[in-house]
Formats: sequence, C-alpha cells, structure tokens
Amino acid sequence: MTDMSDKTVVVTGSTSGIGLGLARGFAQAGANVVLNGFGDAGEIEATRSELDGLGSGAVCYDGADMTRPDEIEALVTAAAARFGGVDIVVNNAGIQTVSPVEDFPRDRWDMIIDINMNSAFHVIRAAVPYMKAAGWGRIINIASAHGLVASPFKSAYVTAKHGVVGMTRTVALEVAEDGITCNAICPGYVLTPLVEAQIPDTARARGMSEDQVKRDVLLAAQWTKKFVTVEQLSGVAQFLCSDVAENITGVALPVDGGWTAA
Ligand code: NAD
Repeated sequence: MTDMSDKTVVVTGSTSGIGLGLARGFAQAGANVVLNGFGDAGEIEATRSELDGLGSGAVCYDGADMTRPDEIEALVTAAAARFGGVDIVVNNAGIQTVSPVEDFPRDRWDMIIDINMNSAFHVIRAAVPYMKAAGWGRIINIASAHGLVASPFKSAYVTAKHGVVGMTRTVALEVAEDGITCNAICPGYVLTPLVEAQIPDTARARGMSEDQVKRDVLLAAQWTKKFVTVEQLSGVAQFLCSDVAENITGVALPVDGGWTAA
C-alpha cells in the first residue's frame, strides 16, 4: 500500500457504497480524509470514528449537499483550511432513476445532472488552485460503464456519466503541466445500496427472481459474471494516485468485467 500520510483526500458521497470503500482505503493508507454524503447522523459519526482509527491521518465529515454549488465550494475551502491543502478529490456522489424518457420526472433529471455531473465541476473548480499551489494533484471521477455506453431507461444517468468523461478529458489537458492528473474510473455493476435498490423492482417488472435479475440482467454484459467490488475500485483509485501513474491522465478506465470491450 502506498504511504499517503502527507495527503488530504475529499471523497464526495462517501457515507455509503463505493465512496465509503474508497474513503476506507485512503484512511488505511494514512491520508486525511473528508467524508461527505447523507445518512443517519449517528451512523455517519460511527463511520467517521471507525475510519479515523485506521491510519495516521484524521478523518472528518462535511455534509455539503452536492446539488448546492456554494456548499461544495465551502467543503473544499474548509478541507484546505483544516489540513493545509487538498491533494486528491474523488467525485463519487451519485443517484439513479430508471424511467422511459417520455415519463422521466423533470425534477429527477435535474437532480441527477446536478449530483452526478455538475458537482464534479464545482469540486474540481474549487480544488485545482490548491493542487496547482502544491504542484501535485489527483482528480478521480467515478463515472460508470454508462459513461462509455448506454442502456435504455437511464437517460439522465447516461447523459451525466458521458458528461463526466468529457469533463475528465478536458480538465486533464488543462492541468497536465501542473503535476495534476484527472481520470475517470468506469465501474460495471457493484453491489451497493444504489444497485440493490433496483433489484426488487426489476424482479417484479420482469417476473424474475432476484437471483435471476442479478445473473441475467445485471451481470448479462459483465463477461466475468462477477460483480466489481469496492475493494477493487479502492485499489484502482490508489494506483491512480501513485507515482507510477503520473503519466496516466485523461483516461476513462473501465473496471467492468469486459462489458465495454464487447
Ligand atoms: P450509494 O447509493 O451506495 O452511495 C451514494 C452516495 O452519494 C451516498 O453516500 C449518498 O449519501 C451520496 N449522495 C447522494 N446524494 C447526495 C447529495 N445531494 N449530496 C451529497 N452526497 C449525496 O451508491 P454507489 O453505488 O456507491 O455509487 C457511487 C458512485 O458510483 C455513483 O456516482 C454511481 O453512479 C457510481 N457507480 C456505481 C455503480 C454500481 O454498480 N454501484 C456502477 C458504476 C458507477
């Protein structure tokens, strides 16, 4: 494991799922970590305290709402004020709605674009000056296989994730000479609350068992027939933060069991 004891990491949407797994990995590696996301206050404090005990860095929580640009900017500013800079940002917060385009609720469209795409812009905009001042930075955007290919009934999500991939490539070019890399990780299906929540509805809609949904729907395009794990994504994120990855930038890296290779 890379020693990250001189680094400060902001992970948006890290009270659950992938973001929590990435935050745990960074905390174990000794980084200061800023947790973010929604949930029960007691559970969030228990998570913060657990992660705080894992490594030599400090772990704190900021409840900024990723639909609110002012709160996002304040999160980055507060992290820099507390820890003396922001070295790594992971734009991970995300939500999903599955609906035919003609019925897609307008408010859910706006929310998905705000949380899954626009928040990454606001985090990057606020964090890049600190990274430039340090002469080093890592921007990691958690996109999706849906940043590279589409599926029906996920118009807002696929739009936002394609946007994140475009943002990743553009920012990578702009900061390339500043010691900063900007990459997207594009996971296939990971069994997190976001995915688990889709399984009962899909089973009902298709007249299948939940096991059939996992095998024949979720894993249909994943050639390994295995879900991606948060631990695997944590390892990939840490690799992108390591010295050997300094020339990997502007990449949209699939971690999808071969989904987008086909
Ligand atoms: P999750 O539902 O377990 O976690 C989402 C996190 O985002 C939570 O911490 C939640 O509180 C937070 N969040 C939601 N709205 C927020 C807001 N307005 N402000 C701040 N935080 C907010 O989901 P997950 O599966 O871990 O997904 C994390 C990311 O990974 C998302 O961007 C998702 O699109 C992406 N992704 C997930 C999968 C998968 O199969 N699970 C696959 C590819 C990409």
